[in-house]
Amino acid sequence: MPRCSLQRATAGKTSALMIVAMQDSASEDQIQQVIDRLVHFGFEVHRSTGARQTVLGGVGVTSDFDTRELEMMPGVQEVHRITSPYKLAGRSFRPEGTVVKFANGIEIGGKKIVVMAGPCSVESREQLFTIGELIAKAGARVLRGGAFKPRSSPYSFQGLGVDALKLLREAGDRFNLLVISEVMEISQIELMLPYVDIFQVGARNMQNFNLLRELGKVRKPVLLKRGVAATLEELLCSAEYLLAGGNYEIILCERGIRTFETYTRNTMDISAIPIIHKLSHLPMTADPSHGTGRRDKVAPMARAAVAAGADAMLIEVHHQPDKALSDGAQSLYPEQFAQLMDELRMIAPAVRREIA
Ligand code: PEP
Ligand code: MN
Repeated sequence: MPRCSLQRATAGKTSALMIVAMQDSASEDQIQQVIDRLVHFGFEVHRSTGARQTVLGGVGVTSDFDTRELEMMPGVQEVHRITSPYKLAGRSFRPEGTVVKFANGIEIGGKKIVVMAGPCSVESREQLFTIGELIAKAGARVLRGGAFKPRSSPYSFQGLGVDALKLLREAGDRFNLLVISEVMEISQIELMLPYVDIFQVGARNMQNFNLLRELGKVRKPVLLKRGVAATLEELLCSAEYLLAGGNYEIILCERGIRTFETYTRNTMDISAIPIIHKLSHLPMTADPSHGTGRRDKVAPMARAAVAAGADAMLIEVHHQPDKALSDGAQSLYPEQFAQLMDELRMIAPAVRREIA
């Protein structure tokens, strides 16, 4: 196989590369059938026949090719897709990295790490304003709070809806904080637009492709959380839906995945941060609150996430966690949050960053 010609072909941003290794025993007929199939799918085929084995390299522009189509063919030993199924989300699309910019000068994806904090759910004016003031004093730049809550049980608190959005905007403006809140369905997008600065797509909706398509049409940043059982490739494919709609202000978020470990609520995958930075140009957030589900483990994971290169943090804080209507056990007390911010300010310079 003329290797250099394949390398040239993959330099283009939209090329796709497929390697098919045939079995030693593959007949000329079987090899020809695979070549025909690759050509049928739009690949240009490069053939290399060694002493025993034939290897076929397919170069094309097909990005959604299912490798199993080839794996099932007689005479085929292995099939490898070299290029990723996402294009716009890939690092090569914007090698310098994406920086999401807000009107008040805050940037996510630049040198400064942005801390977003607040309660899991907006519960009342008194609750939100108390927490909002404390997190702003400690140095947070974005106020979080669920208005529409994706609860595992239909009997759990479902959120205050539009009233919560109004409170978030008011508290955000009062304490000079941007506002992030979760959007669960298409009908909520319009409703939320006047109130939020960032739409949060939760773990449970990472593959709600209809919702993602609609958010792709919006011209407001979206923070996309990794699903509990999603691979990083799947996370990037979901981001691709948003980018394909023309929304380039996308921020990704690691919030823990489900593993066999039961000590923590989820397993915080810190390695997702440097991996995403390698694979994608999109900024990466860490959510150690959902990532661990335990207040005593939030700070260590937050410190690790900053050391690992996170561009932003999403942290749950509550002034009365024992009375919280959701996720009290993983919410930091305001004093703990303030102490954590001090620690993050010391860790960030060690990795040539600053806390915004
Ligand atoms: C949340 O941020 O409160 C939330 C529900 O997060 P996740 O989608 O990660 O569970
Ligand atoms: Mn929560």
